[in-house]
This record gives sequence, C-alpha cells and structure tokens, in this order.
Amino acid sequence: MNQSPNRNNRGQGYPPRTTRPNTNGQNMQRPPLTPQQMAARRAYIARRKREIRRNRIILGVACALILALLIFLITVIVRGIGAAIADGGETTDTNAPITDMLDSGNPPADTTPITDTQGNIITPGTAEVVLPAVQPDVDLSYEAMGFASDLKDFEKYMNPTEERDDYLILVNAQNAISAADKPDDLVEVTNTRTDREKQLMRKPAEKALQALYIEAHAQGMMSPDTPSGYPLSVTSAYRSYETQNYLFSSYVQKEMGNNPGWTKAQAEAKVETYSCRPGTSEHQTGLCIDMHTLSGADVSFANYEQATWLAENCWKFGYILRFPKDKVKETGISYEPWHFRFVGRYHAYQIWSQGLCLEEYIAQLNG
Ligand SMILES: [Zn+2]
Repeated sequence: MNQSPNRNNRGQGYPPRTTRPNTNGQNMQRPPLTPQQMAARRAYIARRKREIRRNRIILGVACALILALLIFLITVIVRGIGAAIADGGETTDTNAPITDMLDSGNPPADTTPITDTQGNIITPGTAEVVLPAVQPDVDLSYEAMGFASDLKDFEKYMNPTEERDDYLILVNAQNAISAADKPDDLVEVTNTRTDREKQLMRKPAEKALQALYIEAHAQGMMSPDTPSGYPLSVTSAYRSYETQNYLFSSYVQKEMGNNPGWTKAQAEAKVETYSCRPGTSEHQTGLCIDMHTLSGADVSFANYEQATWLAENCWKFGYILRFPKDKVKETGISYEPWHFRFVGRYHAYQIWSQGLCLEEYIAQLNG
C-alpha cells in the first residue's frame, strides 16, 4: 500500500521546508524578520520584479523581431514563388479560352482609379483595346514611322529584310514544338521589371523591344505612376520546355492531391484549363514578352494608356498583340492585353491593319 506523500518527509536530499513564509509574510518556524531584513527582502522582491519585467520586455521584443523576420521571409518566399510562376507558368496557350494565370502568385491588379490623358477617370475592367479595321498598305520605311526618338540603329531589327519571314513560327495547342527547340541567340531583356529575375529572349526581338521602350519613354508612357508603382516593364519572356514541363507536372500533382480519386488524365484535363502543356507555350520561342504596369497580369491593363499605346503602335517595332479580345475562338486563348509577339514590322503591320490574329494570318499566307 502506498503511503501518500508527506510534505514534511521528502527524503534526505531535500532541505526541510522551513523557510516558506506564512500569509503574514512571517517565517513559520523562524523568528520574525527584523525591519532591516524586511526592507532587504522588499528590495530583493522589487528587484526581482524589475528583472522579471525587464525579461518579459526583452522576450516580447525578441518575439516581435522573430515574428517580423518570419513575415519577411514568408513574403520573400511567396514573392519568389509568384515570380517563378510568372516566369514559367503562363497558362494561356491552351486549346480552351482561359484567363492567363501569368503572375498568378501576385495579388490582383490594383484597382485605384487613374485618369487618362484627357483627365477622365479610368475604371479598370470596363474598357478594351480596339484593333483597327482593314487599312491599305502603307510605306513601312523607318522615315514613315515618324518616331519621336532616334531609332535608326534598331531599324534592322524592327524591320528585318533578308530574314523577314523567319519569325512567323506558330506555337499553340495544335502546333507544339519539341523539347529540343531552344533558341541559340537568347539575350537578357533590358527592360525586365526590377523585382524579377532577368528575363531572356531572342536577340532580334530584344533589340526591337529596346527601340519600343525608347519610343515609349519619348511618348510619356514610362511614368512610374502606375498601379504597381513599376513603369511599363517586362514580367516574363523566354520559358524553357523544362520549365513548362515542371510547372505543368506540378499543377497535375497538386490537382491529384486536391482531388483524391482523380486519374492522371482527369487531373491533366483540369490543369489544361489554366496552364499549357510543355511545347505549346509561345514563350518557348523566345519571341514574346508579357509587359504591363500592374502588379500581376490582368485584363484591366487594357484600360491604361500604356496598353492602348502598345496595341496601336507595337507593329512599328515589329510586334503584335498576340491574343486580341475578339480572337479568343481563333487563338484558343483569352484576351491578353499584355502579351506581345515579335514577327517583324512587315508582318506585324499586315496582321494589325487587317485586324487578324497570327493563326488567321498564317492561314491566309498558306492560302
Ligand atoms: Zn505571355
């Protein structure tokens, strides 16, 4: 039978419990403390309280610092993942009309109203870029472009002559390119947004893009007074087959995890509604970029003067708006006012002036 513990019989290793004060602050077995001892005790208790208070403050500050550090790290990681998704995960080039998930790691585009050049408040999500109707052929020479800046050194890139037809490659869900298709003339994109890893694209397209940015600056289109605080800049350019493959596979795994019981084919079908299979993204050509002024790609970009300016003038630099609003059926991609594709001025003008998309234009060329 166990004997209940006796507080006064705690074994030989313990000192007798003779120093605990009773409720009057007096020692139970020792004589009452002298006033000096009482004062010393009070001083000791006060000092201990101060120490405890100080330690609590130090602990609190340390916790706050650790919390701040954690928040900072999480922010950095989330932004990194967002940038990685943006850099590799544009999800537009599928065979179903979908919304581009580019920059999907970023928050939705800023909706702060801004005013256009006439002082009218622009409400994101309402306006659209309207492509012009068919126009007669015009002089496509450098002089005829009427640039406000000196872009002569870039003319051979904007308006290639000998290699005029070299940039008409069509990549979409029906026209995939292989894993081995990797451009050998990739260079860094000068106007990559500063919070992104330097983007790459093919040199002729990048040179033409440099010209576009010089002229955009001359036309007052490079103000940092934008929803994101970043001026018009490139958020994504070349993406490798491997990157796209990795992203697509990751999405499939995620879908299977979220939907137990789904087959791989079911998961892939779902992923195809927001991402493109490797080999079917135009970004693998190194001939296109995503550029806008928002924190993340969003159709509301179309409401800003930069989008309008780009849509109306990009052909002069050899670029086309690749996924126009009225060509969703033809391209299989939802409206992307931020995605521009280099084809050279001659073809860009034909496409723009006739109001075609690349699929229709190539079909027209093929008779
Ligand atoms: Zn894109």
